[in-house]
Amino acid sequence: MTELAPDLAEIISPLVALRRDIHAHPELGFNEHRTAARIAAELRAAGLEVHEAIGGTGVVAVLRAGNGPKTLGLRADMDALPIDEQTGLPWASTRPGCFHGCGHDGHVAMLLGAAQYLACDPGFSGTLNLIFQPAEEGLGGARRMIEDGLFETFPCDRVYALHNWPGLPAGTIATRAGAIMGAADKFVIRIQGRGGHAALPQDTPDALLAAATLVQQLNTIVARDVPPSASAVLSVTQIHGGHAHNVIPAEVQIVGTVRTFDLAVQDRIEDRMRQILRGVEAGFEVSATLDYDRYYPATINDAEAAEDALAVAAKVGTALRAPEPAATSEDFSFMLQRRPGAYIWLGQGRGAEAPALHNPRYDFNDEVLEIGVRLHIALARHWLR
Ligand SMILES: [Zn+2]
Ligand SMILES: [Zn+2]
Repeated sequence: MTELAPDLAEIISPLVALRRDIHAHPELGFNEHRTAARIAAELRAAGLEVHEAIGGTGVVAVLRAGNGPKTLGLRADMDALPIDEQTGLPWASTRPGCFHGCGHDGHVAMLLGAAQYLACDPGFSGTLNLIFQPAEEGLGGARRMIEDGLFETFPCDRVYALHNWPGLPAGTIATRAGAIMGAADKFVIRIQGRGGHAALPQDTPDALLAAATLVQQLNTIVARDVPPSASAVLSVTQIHGGHAHNVIPAEVQIVGTVRTFDLAVQDRIEDRMRQILRGVEAGFEVSATLDYDRYYPATINDAEAAEDALAVAAKVGTALRAPEPAATSEDFSFMLQRRPGAYIWLGQGRGAEAPALHNPRYDFNDEVLEIGVRLHIALARHWLR
């Protein structure tokens, strides 16, 4: 790894102000207009070739150095969450119901810092694509960028993304080969009866009782149909039905989520849900439909890319081989389905009581901006060496 020039400190201090400015002006998925404009302006000021409106509000900057044939993509997500911030910080959100509660403001700042540094002193030979992605929080901005030709226009032999991780000490950089985050599926079940008088149950199929039975049976799938060596979560989170004490409702709706780390387990759970639904239809004389939406696949790291990331991390901070994946999900998974790479956690280290991601009191820890910038630079110089 090339030794970093001493002017990195000059980049970090304005980066804190930039991070807080983005924090004060959060924008929801596909509406990151101010954020994207700010990013594009900073990248242009650094002398980079900038492409806007990739996959909606996405921005990509290209840095070519030397004549090396290799290519790398580094990705930062830009969007905020629909949450009211409760930190009381001077740089708190100025927009009610919108808040950088997942630290994407910090991700933007770290990648911009690396872009500014590498623009002055690349220290590599090849092509680096700096990918600023919209709409990570449930709207699949990564998929939109891919559909918009991301990897055809900006070829990447390998891709990396960082996510801040409050559960790890500051300075710790963790990743692992294979699954690092879960697949996220949403299911909606509609149970259709006929509706009728509550005093005449013999004449009316009971959609509500069918729903109650179904919730019980769905909760047996992970226990009885998933091998003990695998892991999965199935949570029923909503039941809607009924409006009067003396009416058996005609329809009941059940909503929930499934999280898995393996396609075979994911398939198995959906199959079992459909089988159980058919049993409940027969048993209660109702009809039932299942909408099963696999909105984010599992985030699967390439083994070699993860090993390289750990080797690079050890030179920048404390490298940690993550012992297990997290059940949360991430749309960088779509990029990893198409290009080998790895998703990396960067410790935020504010102790056990520090607010978790998506908590209204969470804030990105500016003290780790520098290590994040160093990690991006080192990843680029390692792959494009
Ligand atoms: Zn999030
Ligand atoms: Zn996030």
